[in-house]
Amino acid sequence: MQIWNPWHGCHKISPGCANCYVYRRDESIGKDASVVSKTGDYDLPLKKNRQKEHKLTAADGIVFTCMTSDFFLDTADDWRQGCWDMIRQRQDLRFHIITKRIDRFMQCIPPDWGDGWENVTICSTCENQDRTDYRLPLLLELPIKHREVICEPMLEEIHMERYLASGKIEHVVCGGESGEHARLCDFRWIQEVRRECIRNGVPFTFKQTGAVFLKDGKLYHIDRKIQMQQAKRSGYSYVPGTGSADAIRYQLPNRAVLFDRLRGSQFRSRFHLSDQDRAYIAEKGLDTIRRHAQEFVAKRLSAENPDHDGKQTPMKGHPVFLAQHATACCCRGCLEKWHHIPAGKVLDQEEQNYIVDVLMDWISRQLG
Ligand code: SF4
Ligand SMILES: [Zn+2]
Repeated sequence: MQIWNPWHGCHKISPGCANCYVYRRDESIGKDASVVSKTGDYDLPLKKNRQKEHKLTAADGIVFTCMTSDFFLDTADDWRQGCWDMIRQRQDLRFHIITKRIDRFMQCIPPDWGDGWENVTICSTCENQDRTDYRLPLLLELPIKHREVICEPMLEEIHMERYLASGKIEHVVCGGESGEHARLCDFRWIQEVRRECIRNGVPFTFKQTGAVFLKDGKLYHIDRKIQMQQAKRSGYSYVPGTGSADAIRYQLPNRAVLFDRLRGSQFRSRFHLSDQDRAYIAEKGLDTIRRHAQEFVAKRLSAENPDHDGKQTPMKGHPVFLAQHATACCCRGCLEKWHHIPAGKVLDQEEQNYIVDVLMDWISRQLG
């Protein structure tokens, strides 16, 4: 990864900007980040070293562009064309432009932009639901070849499935906020977006925990130095079809505690075996019902991204379906939320057996 900052300084425009790191860093050295100026690195993509080789090279990876400002900031309108000229010349490099001003995109592109340039990825930041619903429809409509979404700092639970379903978003990144006044990041928000990505086959990166991180009801204050490392170590970044979720460590819930919680849920506790279900169980016998449960779990839940996940379990028609809803074993989202089994992982035999045991436990309890 390489960084190209053609100008420095920015103006705050949305909730994600409140603790902007450019402002924080500038303040610490007595500088005013609201003063925007061209940097000495403005023409970095064309700069060469003594050996007459380009300083920025394809081998050094993505060129993150304008990281101490916003590429589409109005103050920089006169300078942007020169940048496009350099980006056009350096077809060998991949430029990633992260912006909170996707709404200025059309007035900022060069005349020969056409339907987008192959070497440019536009990354729209979405820190909350309101900004997601404002910026992502624009991002999807615009002539862009490569699109990314960055939820950083993530400030609340965000849903973006309808945008991911377009198939136009290549990657989603989530993370918390750092710094002295960092706002809280709840791990459940990260998991929610991750599940939406899995269902839509979109790679997902959990980049950093942020400084104030809530996980399993516990609040953690995490040192800047290990915020990225902790996120990486969690294993919650996801690349479809690579088994990336296999490394996630988790603990299955205690069965008694689980059933207590289920009883406390208005939705879960409303499921009961009907007379018809009881007659069916009596007719088939519990061994057969267990075999059916094994088949349903293997067929409808075990894949990395099961078909119609979230809607794969009918509300009636078999006692096992009822047991699945009653015990939150109905889909991968519920399995993650209630049983901690990570979404995006192919369920191994042990996990499948655990689920079947929970289902049969519920049925036995129902039968008294
Ligand atoms: S747009 Fe980015 S760089 Fe500009 S103020 Fe907001 S957070 Fe800072
Ligand atoms: Zn479910």
